[in-house]
Amino acid sequence: MLLQIVLPASSLLPKTRFLFEKPFRACTGIIDFCYYCPVCFVKVETRHINECLNCNETVNLDLYKSGNFFITLPLTAQLRDMFENSNISQLISHRFQRSKTNTRNIEDIYDGSVYNEAVGSKDASHISLTWNTDGVPVFQSSNYSMWPIQCVINELPPHLRRKHVLIAGLWFGVNKPNFNSFLKPFIDECNSLKSMGFTWFTNTKKTCTTFVTTLVCAVDSVARCMLQGIKQFNGEYGCSWCLHPGQQVEKGSGTVRVYDSKVYDKRTHSGLISHAQDTLTGGSCFGVLYASPLLLLKHFDIVCGFSVDYLHCVLLGVTRALGCLWLESEHHNEPYYIGRQITAIDERLMSIRPPASITRAPRSIKLRRYWKASEWRNWLHIYSVICLQGILKPAYFKHFLLLVCAVEILRGFSISVDDLNAAEQMLHLFVYEFASLYGLPNMSYNVHQLSHLSDTVRQWGPLWTTSTFPFESGNGLLMKLFHGTRGLPLQVSRKFIIFRNLPILAYKYISRDSDEIYKFFTNLLEIYSPVQKALRVAEDVVLLGQYVYRPLTFEERTALDGICTSTLTRSVYSYSRAVVKGYLINAEKSCNQRRRNNSCIWLKNQVCGTVENLVVIDDHPYVLFRQLVIGREFICHKQAAIVTRSIRIVTRVSGELMASHVKNFENPCIFINNKRIFSKPLVAVICAREEGD
Ligand SMILES: [Zn+2]
Ligand SMILES: [Zn+2]
Repeated sequence: MLLQIVLPASSLLPKTRFLFEKPFRACTGIIDFCYYCPVCFVKVETRHINECLNCNETVNLDLYKSGNFFITLPLTAQLRDMFENSNISQLISHRFQRSKTNTRNIEDIYDGSVYNEAVGSKDASHISLTWNTDGVPVFQSSNYSMWPIQCVINELPPHLRRKHVLIAGLWFGVNKPNFNSFLKPFIDECNSLKSMGFTWFTNTKKTCTTFVTTLVCAVDSVARCMLQGIKQFNGEYGCSWCLHPGQQVEKGSGTVRVYDSKVYDKRTHSGLISHAQDTLTGGSCFGVLYASPLLLLKHFDIVCGFSVDYLHCVLLGVTRALGCLWLESEHHNEPYYIGRQITAIDERLMSIRPPASITRAPRSIKLRRYWKASEWRNWLHIYSVICLQGILKPAYFKHFLLLVCAVEILRGFSISVDDLNAAEQMLHLFVYEFASLYGLPNMSYNVHQLSHLSDTVRQWGPLWTTSTFPFESGNGLLMKLFHGTRGLPLQVSRKFIIFRNLPILAYKYISRDSDEIYKFFTNLLEIYSPVQKALRVAEDVVLLGQYVYRPLTFEERTALDGICTSTLTRSVYSYSRAVVKGYLINAEKSCNQRRRNNSCIWLKNQVCGTVENLVVIDDHPYVLFRQLVIGREFICHKQAAIVTRSIRIVTRVSGELMASHVKNFENPCIFINNKRIFSKPLVAVICAREEGD
């Protein structure tokens, strides 16, 4: 009705919601509604039941209206839509086309041992999924929540994985899902996709079959224990990967389960199955409570199939917990307490001007309880060392550096076997010393999980390949679809379907000839981020803004002489901004934002500097910069040669102007040179990951 009133009579747009949603309905396939008993959560056949046949309770409810249901969204239809109506089928051959920095190193999920075993030898007709499920609170005032099952296609190039998330199911209710009921349709479909695949038509109408392996489950600890069928981590034998029993100790007014640094046998798939069998006969079950429905998922390893989740374990777990220990006043008698220097820490933190590749500028550490996972990530990898140096006592500072360095290695783009082993050593040392530095009551399950972190990398590649960042942003998106309406769960699924199908419909119907409209859509859907007023001078180099045609200064000529292969012309085209390899670079004088600075760059051969200008000579882009002479790293530990690689002390802020071809640019940096606040000038090299915020 409203649409009819608002739209002009001549409008070609659909005039009712039914007509508006029609094309979306056509490309969704079937959505199945499944209802469950509100008492025992077992699936029931119909929406209206009087009595549950499983628990014999009188129910007498409309289960749709009471919100006791879940939705399954078949993956087959979604995958077919994607493959037939977009260029996804070409993109999935990425793993055969990628060029590795070092053939022996771990650079993506494909280099992990479990991936290799399951999919490594298969051709492009095989794809695999990483999946997740987690509770999303729907109404803040109640316990009502929604649990989506989300899947990511591993064979897409890293930056596209999080943009094409599939949703296989949505559970609604005031309780956690009954996974036997909820996962059954998902597992059945995954098994069929594994053995028979799904068929789709190419644009030349050829039939293709693609097989899908549901490979790895990336979830937080609460969901993982339930999915594995074991006790929560606060129960005895609550670790997903090993047989550490943990122990109950007093903490504050209650007790907590802690894990000392002893090493126990690892769990195995067959071991967990036999423990599950023992639950039936009353034997020793090592924390196993029941046989997980996931044991029915073909080729899924019930132990290795789960990754240690970097987001919840490292960032929201150990990193945040350390923040509490250092700063909360209840620890004011502890040697690690630095809450009295919080203003000094904040002054340092707020003076840091990160480059544009970091979405959010630092927020006060006093607001840390509102920090998101990405803010804890920036704190761990960039700000913490800079802010805590000289404030945290040396023993605690060096100990903390072990975590910073190890995780930095494990989330790298190219991880050598030596580095991986070194990171593992550092984490073992970190866990070992944690007890003596912070006390046994603080040896939480998250601290213990760090000792399994390197195994996750061996099995599944760098931490960013199985982190829950893409799923967390998927959850955020689903929450937005609700947008405060006390509406029906049906609304969410309906809106989700529209949202998910927009790119596919856009690809199908928007003519590529109509440049403006296509650009508008790709922009809207964030498929690409086009750059305006730009001049592409080389692959990965786009010069921005207004240029100046001007003569070279004597100093610039000296810097370019010998570097520049062409004869130096008298005048050059000079720019102050560029996007290189996806990063924004600004000349220092044009960085006029108070909280941002894009002028510090890291080049090949450990050269670092602040940008003065970008010039084009003979179609080649050069960057002119004042060099920062890089000195040593921070040393974490006296026994081992463990150093921070991305945070370096600057020994000399050189006045000398230097030049380099822009292709030598590697990373943006943060340059810290405020003598009033910091004792030494520092540089932090920023390595963005394909995780999103
Ligand atoms: Zn029941
Ligand atoms: Zn363990």
